[in-house]
Amino acid sequence: MIFANKALLATGWEANVRIRIEDGRINSIEMGVKAEADDVLGDALLPSIANLHSHSFQRVMAGMTEVRAKGRDSFWTWRELMYRFMDRLMPDQIEAFAALTFMEMQEAGFASVGEFHYVHHQVGGKHYDDIAELSNRIFAAAQATGIGLTHLPVLYTYGGANEALLAEGQLRFGNDLDAFNRLYEKAKIGLKQLPNDTNMGIAPHSLRATTPEHLKELLDAYTNGPVHMHISEQPKEVSDVEAWLGARPVEWLLENVDVNKRWCLIHATHMSRQETLGMAASGAVVGFVLLQNQT
Ligand SMILES: [Zn+2]
Repeated sequence: MIFANKALLATGWEANVRIRIEDGRINSIEMGVKAEADDVLGDALLPSIANLHSHSFQRVMAGMTEVRAKGRDSFWTWRELMYRFMDRLMPDQIEAFAALTFMEMQEAGFASVGEFHYVHHQVGGKHYDDIAELSNRIFAAAQATGIGLTHLPVLYTYGGANEALLAEGQLRFGNDLDAFNRLYEKAKIGLKQLPNDTNMGIAPHSLRATTPEHLKELLDAYTNGPVHMHISEQPKEVSDVEAWLGARPVEWLLENVDVNKRWCLIHATHMSRQETLGMAASGAVVGFVLLQNQT
């Protein structure tokens, strides 16, 4: 039992709260009661926070990229290194790195994570025998460490704005809509093994990695659950999308898609005032990352 002088519950702050934990889960919550012998005592109790954006494998390359030479390094050179690193990643490593990262998250106070999962295939792009092999590796890592998982399989079809072909370093991400649908269905089966603090959504990677038509088709097919998308991450991405679609990324999204509280816009760093206001009114959440080394 945990007793707290005050606790933040769904109803707001409550006083003198006792929480019964059974089998690692909250079984009951009483309010306005007294502490009893053997209770673990606390003053203020808050729900653990969620980490809304993770590419867990990148945790392990952090030491390789936490340097920057002026005039030489940028987001794009960081991405090159990430692609080279990824060429060496095998399923066992992806699972181990995810488990390490999930464990570290829990040590830091996070109880759940949105894993924006985009490495799906073998080096060179060949599918694993089970197209959801690497999703299953993420599930195993969540299971082993106990973190609550929102699995966000990524649709990544193109290498850049206006249907650019995937570059070599992007072949492990690549799915057209058919492959994505198969992957999603297989992953959904694997996900059933996990406890009920598990969820699944979709992640069209970014405007630059899909097309307006495919995005519409995807959203028409998946009408429940969270939608996460990278957007307006880099000035070059903004200008590429503007040249292609005639609008800035967030501007385009707000005009063409029903952005609502299902949505989490990752980065949304380079927004105009108009885009910021529109995004705020939509009910979407922004996952704003201040670190340089994220994609
Ligand atoms: Zn990201």
